[in-house]
Amino acid sequence: MTQLSTKNISILGSTGSIGVQTLQVIEKSNGFFNILYLTTNKNIDLLAEQIQKFKPKGVVINDYQSYLAFKKNYTFDGEVLFGQEGLLRAASDSENDLVVSALVGFSGVSPTISALEAGKDVALANKETLVSAGQYISEISRKNNAKIIAIDSEHNAILQCLLGEDVSKVEKIILTASGGPFLNFDQKKFDEVKVSEALAHPRWSMGKKISIDSATLMNKGFEVIEAHWLFNLSAEQIQVVVHPESIVHSLVQFVDGSIKAQLGPQDMRIPISFALNYPNRFKYDFPRLDLLEVSSLNFIRPDTEKFPCLQFAYDALKLGGNAPAILNAANETAVQSFLDGRISFSSIPKCISYALEKVEHIENPTLKDIFDTDKFTREFTLDFINKII
Ligand code: MG
Repeated sequence: MTQLSTKNISILGSTGSIGVQTLQVIEKSNGFFNILYLTTNKNIDLLAEQIQKFKPKGVVINDYQSYLAFKKNYTFDGEVLFGQEGLLRAASDSENDLVVSALVGFSGVSPTISALEAGKDVALANKETLVSAGQYISEISRKNNAKIIAIDSEHNAILQCLLGEDVSKVEKIILTASGGPFLNFDQKKFDEVKVSEALAHPRWSMGKKISIDSATLMNKGFEVIEAHWLFNLSAEQIQVVVHPESIVHSLVQFVDGSIKAQLGPQDMRIPISFALNYPNRFKYDFPRLDLLEVSSLNFIRPDTEKFPCLQFAYDALKLGGNAPAILNAANETAVQSFLDGRISFSSIPKCISYALEKVEHIENPTLKDIFDTDKFTREFTLDFINKII
């Protein structure tokens, strides 16, 4: 067997849920990965621990106060960069072999573009990037011959099912959804849902933003749009089924009627390890799935009346242009307002449908239009929240 050389890697968002789990995979990889940059928004204490352990060449701190606090309280002889500029620098560093984008929300768009433009492969956990700017991201990826490898468990599952297959022979894909914490919750009580209840996902432990998106099924809607760009499929070729056990991570149906599925425990380190080592597989000692313990698997049609956000995503995908960027920005603003206790859980879809209806639709947006749409929709949604809700 040929000895593979080490892989240089930067992790954007190393102190978030995916970032931390990525480092756990790297720790178990017997020195195969060499860390170039680690980045955080505000969590400098955890960043300092990560520096001790992984000895990066540099770090980026996005929040200015936290950047100053880091400089004051910690000594580190590598580069300490600040803000968006720092992120772009880390993402495009010529030594990178792979950039993990685990930033939250629209803030992930520019660094991902920066990495792809530098010809760097991106392991993408930040789905908002593909939702908002999917067309550009796909074009830049193609032009620069830089791969986008999805970390998201569903798309990672599809990627695994497609290994060795002819993509033109795919009839449709089936994305599974756990259904979130409110699968069997009385819809009439959505007004009273507490933040802590919405954050309590039954299957996965994740960051706050994505946990709320999972509770509204917006997350699954985003995944439909993400799948459209990653696998070049129409909205009609992307089906969502609720699968409460979260054992089957997604499926591909081929033109001969055959279906391939990828199964596994609910452990994000498995899709992360696949993305980091793609197209190779390494041995890891993560927990194994015992089918006898699982015993039964259920599949249910999603209720888009109860969870309209899923339908909004299909609508936005069909509308095209800047509609998915409107969807994303309205959702990010609404979710933050819900987390801040300013609006009810049932107001989240109201904010999104209002923005989709009212914000100007641009059929063929430039990248600047996408950024403008994002900025405008946030202000528009905040305004709606302040005045009407
Ligand atoms: Mg997912």
